[in-house]
Amino acid sequence: MDRIKAFINGRFQNSDGEVLIKINPVSGAPIAEVEKTDTALLEHAITAAKNAQIEWSSLTGQERSHIMMRAARMLASSLEELTRLEVRDVGKAWSEAISADVPCGAEAYEYFGSLAATLTGTSHKWSGARGFTERVPLGICAGIGAWNYPTQIACWKSAPALAMGNAFILKPSEMTPYTANAIAEILQEAGLPAGLFQVVHGDFSVGRALCEHPDIAKISLTGGVKTGKKILAQSASTLKKVTLELGGKAPLIVFADADFDVAVQTALDANFYTAGEVCSNATRVFVDEKILDKFVEAMRDKTQALKIGDPMKEETQIGALISEHHLEKVLSYISIGKSEGAHLVIGGERQFPDGCEGGFFISPAIFTDCKDDMRIVKEEIFGPVMAVLSFKGEEEVIERANNTPFGLGAGIMTSDLSRAHRVADKLDAGNIWINSYNLIPPDWPFGGVKQSGFGRESSVFALESYSQVKATYIQY
Ligand code: NAD
Repeated sequence: MDRIKAFINGRFQNSDGEVLIKINPVSGAPIAEVEKTDTALLEHAITAAKNAQIEWSSLTGQERSHIMMRAARMLASSLEELTRLEVRDVGKAWSEAISADVPCGAEAYEYFGSLAATLTGTSHKWSGARGFTERVPLGICAGIGAWNYPTQIACWKSAPALAMGNAFILKPSEMTPYTANAIAEILQEAGLPAGLFQVVHGDFSVGRALCEHPDIAKISLTGGVKTGKKILAQSASTLKKVTLELGGKAPLIVFADADFDVAVQTALDANFYTAGEVCSNATRVFVDEKILDKFVEAMRDKTQALKIGDPMKEETQIGALISEHHLEKVLSYISIGKSEGAHLVIGGERQFPDGCEGGFFISPAIFTDCKDDMRIVKEEIFGPVMAVLSFKGEEEVIERANNTPFGLGAGIMTSDLSRAHRVADKLDAGNIWINSYNLIPPDWPFGGVKQSGFGRESSVFALESYSQVKATYIQY
């Protein structure tokens, strides 16, 4: 059994007290004891972060850039090791982790590292006076992560924070503690001052302590809507800046004029990638009634061909769900969908792949005959469950697509350019993809509207959110 400790002030440190058990989603067996960071250790982390932040923010942007670019190269060269840990943490397919999760963490460090050398302000001139503005760091920022993309979340949140000159404290999800510690060691080796990037471990209570701490200036959460509301309330007494990356129930609208094969593959990926455990997944697939039958048939065939099994095997496409509790939740939605009158075309059954019989596997499910007011259509399931809905006209489908409290992503499949623009204009979502889905290069903002949260990951918008404007006015 592994023992997982907090990474504070440049080294792993013991915590006295509670230990949480990390379960391997692939086998169902306990694999690690995670030491919940106690109050004294958290205070130690705050002191170390303050000192490190003073040192780090006194470097030039070029110097910070140099270290972050080295970190990016080291993250990239640790591809296999981080992938192994990501698969161990989440149970997701090796083929995904090695091609997406870990490379995109390294890319975030490369992108924000390169921006660190370019940060400038504005200058102003009036009669008898001049002024200048600059973006200055907030101080100590903290990230609280979900369990589905631990490497990506760690890098997406910390890289812009560090580029801006902040210190960063990460609390990964208690269910995925492995990669955060490995990343901390890599960053330290790359030359970050001790205390600049630290990892604390534990459940909501450690997250709450971060929110309530007066010396932390900003919280960035990736998690569920309920947690987002709690975090906002917990951060109110110290007036923290907050970024909330929350859940979704995104629509994918497939018009009859879309490239059929591309549309089918896009809908498949937008639902079953990472076994459906993706916040922006397009789980409401609206299909023009003219192509509905053909679409469902093609989707069923492709879904049937997906390889479920040991995520460490290269050919596996669908790995395990994160926990037994989550598996039960997803299975309960399969029952709910049936009892609501939706037709289960395929999947939705627990699986026991060879060698992984104790793991939390489910076959990807497709429901048809869905209605907008069914729970499987309205609520975030966060598993491989696709709801197919048919539509007749453009105005109708826009209204139905927007009829949700969420607003993270939305997709449009069409070969009519005018229609693509017209529909995109009217959809309420932070991210809209046309003839693609879920693509997020590092210079591209990602985040939601409505109850999917606020603030953006990636891009210059993330960088700005880890800084504040200081304006200096000089009277001649
Ligand atoms: P969760 O909300 O249960 O937990 C997220 C994190 O918040 C964990 O680290 C948890 O320990 C912590 N936490 C829980 N309660 C807290 C509290 N009161 N104070 C401080 N911290 C607290 O979410 P999850 O189950 O880990 O992840 C699934 C959810 O995350 C889904 O709803 C999914 O849509 C969402 N998500 C969103 C994005 C995005 O970028 N928008 C990405 C991935 C996942």
